Amino acid sequence: MAAYQEKKFAQERKHKIIQNDTKASQGQWGRAWEVDWFSLASILFLLMFAPLIVYYFIMSCDQYQCSLTDPLLDLLMGNKHLSDIWNKTPMLTYRAAGIYSLWVTFQVVLYVFIPDFCHKFLPGYVGGVQEGAVTPAGVVNKYEINGLQAWIITHVLWFANASCLHFFSPTIIFDNWIPLLWCANILGYAVSTFAMIKGYFFPTNARDCKFTGNFFYDYMMGIEFNPRIGKWFDFKLFFNGRPGIVAWTLINLSFAAKQQELYGEVTNSMILVNVLQGIYVLDFFWNEAWYLKTIDICHDHFGWYLGWGDCVWLPYLYTLQGLYLVYHPVQLCTAHAIGILMLGLLGYYIFRMTNHQKDLFRRTNGNCRIWGKKPEYIECSYMSVDGTKYHSKLMTSGFWGWARHFNYTGDLMGSLAYCLACGFEHILPYFYIVYMTILLTHRCIRDEHRCWSKYGKDWKRYTAAVPYRLLPGIF
Ligand code: NDP
Repeated sequence: MAAYQEKKFAQERKHKIIQNDTKASQGQWGRAWEVDWFSLASILFLLMFAPLIVYYFIMSCDQYQCSLTDPLLDLLMGNKHLSDIWNKTPMLTYRAAGIYSLWVTFQVVLYVFIPDFCHKFLPGYVGGVQEGAVTPAGVVNKYEINGLQAWIITHVLWFANASCLHFFSPTIIFDNWIPLLWCANILGYAVSTFAMIKGYFFPTNARDCKFTGNFFYDYMMGIEFNPRIGKWFDFKLFFNGRPGIVAWTLINLSFAAKQQELYGEVTNSMILVNVLQGIYVLDFFWNEAWYLKTIDICHDHFGWYLGWGDCVWLPYLYTLQGLYLVYHPVQLCTAHAIGILMLGLLGYYIFRMTNHQKDLFRRTNGNCRIWGKKPEYIECSYMSVDGTKYHSKLMTSGFWGWARHFNYTGDLMGSLAYCLACGFEHILPYFYIVYMTILLTHRCIRDEHRCWSKYGKDWKRYTAAVPYRLLPGIF
């Protein structure tokens, strides 16, 4: 039914002459309508191998002290069979299933049933009911922004338990790490499959659905733009932020507790990882309203990429440094530790200021000051599916005049800092910077393709004014 409606809308769209008189910009913004062979091959690769990659990393810590090469060597030299490794892998347990169910239920309750009170007493914090960006179908969704509150309540309870209540050990996450991986996978697949079925049979907004006709592409990249249950349970906002990102700092705390239990101390590298990643997580929740305007919420549809990615990939691979440090407790010399802290803080500063400049610029429609001056910008326009014309501005000063994605550059500097905290003995903790470099470079290209489709020749004027993507003068 929704597929039929969408086909009809697509046909109507074809007849509309839209913005900037360019053929390429015929309302094609949002994710792809057609699948090329390269995208399909990448998607099949990820669907098959991403779960294996996560398993391989976690297993190599559990069975090989975080060596990524030893399991392969063992297999290649015939010292071990796949079945030996699999037989040593902890299976799903009732305890892990109970912990995980309780965890997700608790986050759902915090998300759905407790309206935000933080914005009432925290100056500068934007919470409560907020509007998202205009979707390709011209819809503006409302969101209840209460992630900071959920993060605070969860962490207050965690510390209360660790210091006086003692209902469970703070090492509980580390101690059940692999059984919890199976639970996260079950949820990740269940929610992605549900989202696909929902897209076909009962979408929240049929005009914001996209069907390429390719099952794997639609499953991976999603059909519905903003699937919801009821008025407020928004899949994208919930799964992006909680349970994965709220869990991120708890997972790191659990790893620190395990270090304490095993070695009688928490190393400075573990503290650095906890602090730098803690700042990043807190920043995310402090700016959750701003997050409504980022690519994940504004442009990506909800499929396996977001559903499984948020449940499994993020909590398991973004926390590899902390996990590694449980097996290899690195104590850094003071100079090294300060250097890493500086790199992490500088990266965070660039990341935050760049994002802040765009947010301020967009919120005030350019009536603000960036680095003490009125911002420079390029006027541009685009149209939604229903033919409504919108106007927008692309800033060409501040960090946005240095490069088109300097926020990614700051993010990458911070990511490198987490990895460097783990020393140079193994490559496993460096996975994060490799992954982030691929993710953000790909995202840059993806975003630019979308912006070009959306703004047409205005986008070309912008790229001529700001020629570099990440590093001024280089890329
Ligand atoms: P951006 O915040 O850079 O948003 C890109 C959008 O901003 C474009 O699509 C366009 O949207 C608008 N835009 C582009 N150029 C300009 C300009 N010059 N002036 C005004 N608006 C402009 O990208 P993301 O949403 O990807 O990233 C947000 C943050 O999240 C980044 O800092 C990134 O590092 C971080 N991130 C972290 C990840 C992680 O896993 N740790 C993953 C992904 C992102 P429009 O259509 O409105 O014009």
